[in-house]
Amino acid sequence: MNPKIEKLIKLFAKLPRVGTRGGQRIALHLLQDKTGRASAISAALIDATENIAPCPNCGVLTDRAADMCEYCRDAMRANGQLCIVRDLSDVWTLEKSSVFHGRYHIIGGLLSGASGILPQDLNISNLGRRISDEGIHEIIFALPNTVEGKTTQHYIMSALGDAASVAFTELASGVPLGGDLDYLDDGTLTLAFGGRKSL
Ligand SMILES: [Zn+2]
Repeated sequence: MNPKIEKLIKLFAKLPRVGTRGGQRIALHLLQDKTGRASAISAALIDATENIAPCPNCGVLTDRAADMCEYCRDAMRANGQLCIVRDLSDVWTLEKSSVFHGRYHIIGGLLSGASGILPQDLNISNLGRRISDEGIHEIIFALPNTVEGKTTQHYIMSALGDAASVAFTELASGVPLGGDLDYLDDGTLTLAFGGRKSL
């Protein structure tokens, strides 16, 4: 195989859910495409990787040049609710279902002895400041319904123990055990959100 093509396939194959067969299909498609798709993708990729960075307030990926992301800047979202999620795909899932209209906080992972993720690896150091600065009265945990998700939730609650004015809630039991948010259809997610329980 031509080494340039082989390199492309190997790079694609390492992407989530692609693998070697998928990598071969993508590489072939792009190399044989006559519409300029490969150049458009490489330009968009360079533009995004150079100009997108996590929002310093909540962790949502946004324009590096902007102070904060669109959710943190939106005054309509200052309703005192803060939803804690693992990553940006959870924000997209919740936005798609239109079930939540407050602010988000992406913690970027879950505590796990097995994969060595420790509290200092999570994006939680500014949570206490956000509670007071943004007048947060409810923190909604929308983390995966797993041992790691629950452990992380308990850790954050005890770390924020001083912020006694805040109510902690979690999504109702519609979230399946071991399940991520993006496995839920909009109806189930709406039910889980509406029926959230106090902690
Ligand atoms: Zn933000």
